[in-house]
Amino acid sequence: MALTGLDIYKLLPKTNCGDCGVPTCLAFAMALAGKKTSLDKCPHVSAQAKEALDGASAPPIHLVTVGTGDNKVEIGNETVLFRHEQTFYHQTGIAVEISDNLSADEIAKRAKHIQGLEFDRVGKKVRINLIAIRDKSGKPDTFANAVKTVSSASALPLVLISSNPAVMESGVKLVADKKPLLYGANAENYAAMAELAKKYNAPLGIVGKTLDELADITPKITAMGVKDLVIDPGTKELPKLLADITQIRRLALKKTFRPLGFPIIVFTPDGVDAMTETIFAATFIAKYSGIVVLKGSELWQMLPLVTIRQNIYTDPQKPIQVESKVYPIGQVTDNSPVLVTTNFSLTYFTVGPEVEGSKVPSYILVVNTEGMSVLTAYAADKFNEKIITKALNEHSVAQKVKHKKVVIPGYIAALSGKLEAESGWQVMVGPREASALPSFLKNVWK
Ligand code: SF4
Repeated sequence: MALTGLDIYKLLPKTNCGDCGVPTCLAFAMALAGKKTSLDKCPHVSAQAKEALDGASAPPIHLVTVGTGDNKVEIGNETVLFRHEQTFYHQTGIAVEISDNLSADEIAKRAKHIQGLEFDRVGKKVRINLIAIRDKSGKPDTFANAVKTVSSASALPLVLISSNPAVMESGVKLVADKKPLLYGANAENYAAMAELAKKYNAPLGIVGKTLDELADITPKITAMGVKDLVIDPGTKELPKLLADITQIRRLALKKTFRPLGFPIIVFTPDGVDAMTETIFAATFIAKYSGIVVLKGSELWQMLPLVTIRQNIYTDPQKPIQVESKVYPIGQVTDNSPVLVTTNFSLTYFTVGPEVEGSKVPSYILVVNTEGMSVLTAYAADKFNEKIITKALNEHSVAQKVKHKKVVIPGYIAALSGKLEAESGWQVMVGPREASALPSFLKNVWK
């Protein structure tokens, strides 16, 4: 049972020293109860109180890291059921499977293909994150060779899949320094698999036949000292899996039910076509999976998956922004038009391609509107004559062109007089919609 703020307060030093970043112990206790801070922020808590509080203050869904360095994947530590309540923090890792019974050439080729699955979307690099190597051979040597081949062909973190501890050890001992996820502990083999996870300091994936079985195994494994667990409810039937996963998330968040307070891994089912597999994967990116493992790796499957993931895991209170600066589009000269827009990514990435498509080399001055689109920023007074003038000056636009004409979006036409007076630039009112920019640049701009 989770402790209340007052329960926690009783265990704190009550000195109100403020070293934790909030002014009073009570405020800290309330923040801790709301899982908005962590116990380690208070340096004065006694060992006895720490022991009592540690369990209660741990995040309801354990944070698990797979891999190391820049490519590492962090999953779990979510705090809400629905993104509109706050935000989701650790985006689903997307993994693609390789079977160990393929030839070495095929394995290397597939690993390189997966490594290359990276896309540029609204100014962000989005990618497939992990490679899962499945033991289909049942042979330690074959599995070890596959792990070695993938590891040399790709820097992505690995998921090693086998329920046979001997096969698993043949692979993990080669890549233990890369912190792979070992997947395949179950009710029969969990003790041996947990020993491996402990020996190689790797996170461990557990599959149960039912949620009850899962909830029975995880405390036994944590009691052995393996804390970084990833759980799989086992079923491959979409409605049942969705219900199970929702239940896990609810139990973890609403009841602080520790045996299921771990990130979830989901595997797409065997024998489905690529479209069904993609829909299946998208469903579990939307609903609570820490890792989704696919068999297919077509570009047309991957792009919608990374797109839906980016949409879901973007903080709704912090719109994706581009840097505020002057972007030259095409071979600009000192006669090129200067267009003004906002730093909301979707606005910039709508305007930019239209300008590029017009074949009229132009400068786009992106004004910092805190990520708001044109009309929203205008209504919030974040896209006014003073802010645009400041951006013109800060980015030395007058040194880039010899004319003094600036094009503003048609939606803020009402600003043109004030902007001319404030900036000293001649203001041209552009179209309302970006799609009309090519025609404007070719026929109206002079
Ligand atoms: S650092 Fe600890 S003792 Fe100091 S105010 Fe915060 S909770 Fe209280």
